[in-house]
Amino acid sequence: MHFQTSTIHAGVDKDSAFNSVITPIYQTSTFRFENIGQTKGFDYTRSGNPTRKALEENIAALEGGISAAAVSTGMAAITLVLHFFKTGDHILCTHDCYGGTERLLRTYREQFGLEISYIDMRDLSSVRKAIRPNTKAFWIETPSNPLLNVVDIRELSQLAHQHGALSIVDNTFLSPFNQRPFELGADIIVHSTTKYLNGHSDVVGGAVVVKNQQHAERLQFLANALGQGASPFDCWLVLRGIKTLVPRMKEHERNARVVAEFLSTHPHVRKVYYPGLESHPQHELAKSQQYGFGGMVSFEVDGGIEEAKYVLRSTKIFALAESLGGVESLIEHPTMMSHASMNPDLREKAGINERVIRLSIGIEDPNDLIEDLDQALTFERRTRVSDRAAKVQVEC
Ligand SMILES: *Cc1c(COP(=O)(O)O)cnc(C)c1O
Repeated sequence: MHFQTSTIHAGVDKDSAFNSVITPIYQTSTFRFENIGQTKGFDYTRSGNPTRKALEENIAALEGGISAAAVSTGMAAITLVLHFFKTGDHILCTHDCYGGTERLLRTYREQFGLEISYIDMRDLSSVRKAIRPNTKAFWIETPSNPLLNVVDIRELSQLAHQHGALSIVDNTFLSPFNQRPFELGADIIVHSTTKYLNGHSDVVGGAVVVKNQQHAERLQFLANALGQGASPFDCWLVLRGIKTLVPRMKEHERNARVVAEFLSTHPHVRKVYYPGLESHPQHELAKSQQYGFGGMVSFEVDGGIEEAKYVLRSTKIFALAESLGGVESLIEHPTMMSHASMNPDLREKAGINERVIRLSIGIEDPNDLIEDLDQALTFERRTRVSDRAAKVQVEC
């Protein structure tokens, strides 16, 4: 099956009772045994559920893996993978990873003795220097959040393997439509299905995908032992969302390009971060390892925190909200919102400053998106608004 056919059909054939075309929601905690020691394949929903299994087979097929675990959130997926390691193991992590990932790694370092180093993985020589005898994994996020830096999954995976370490990729930002890390040598893929895979901002979910039998057994053991499985209804929603992954991703990317080009020429924008622009420092790398550039665009306003706040307050179509990857456009401020939980030193080193605004570009008409941003970037009005506010205060 080709990718687009898999989004619709992989794993989706589970109703032997009535032949429903869509996978039923098996909203049950437990399953009746046929006889002692004999089930129809499921005994208890923490350990396995037909709706969840359909989603797991679907996501595994899209990534080209052999097994997946569908779990309750993206962070649960990351937690699951961290349980592949033990006290004293060393993990090399992308320096500008998702804020929640950094917070969780910090907890594992403090409480369970994992060793963590943050490295700018665009620079392979510094990655090489950071490798220790106990390095067991590279934690790769590309493009990164929110600055959309791109790192070389092929080279990094090779380097990890030379040192007996695993290459783990958080593929949330692109989805398997735009990037398939197994084809580039990665060993484990994690997703927040909350984002593009579900795509409709109505579920939190996560997934881990593996490509060898030993990892598959460990994965299924841990998902059950840790009790992380996603609910049947949430799995059903994500499965439903994935059916339109391909047309959605095409629209996200078309709109993201239009917005990135518009912002690039705007007098009140200092810098635009979008790997699809030729001016992006890793544009060529992105072209060579990705099937598309995705729908995330970040930019720096010309000015400071006040101008950034003005823009964040002024959009009418872009909703001021965390998260990304849904059909509706969102705007957010990494230092005050998505990356507020990140260690401030690390955040600064990663180049995430107060001027940075992150956009998740939805699939609305791009003309409306541009118009909305244009009016929000008209700072002149800010003075007028605060003038008026000052006057009101005086009158009071
Ligand atoms: C959102 C996100 C996560 C965490 O996922 P949740 O579903 O919010 O728990 C992890 N990694 C990346 C890149 C994300 O964007």
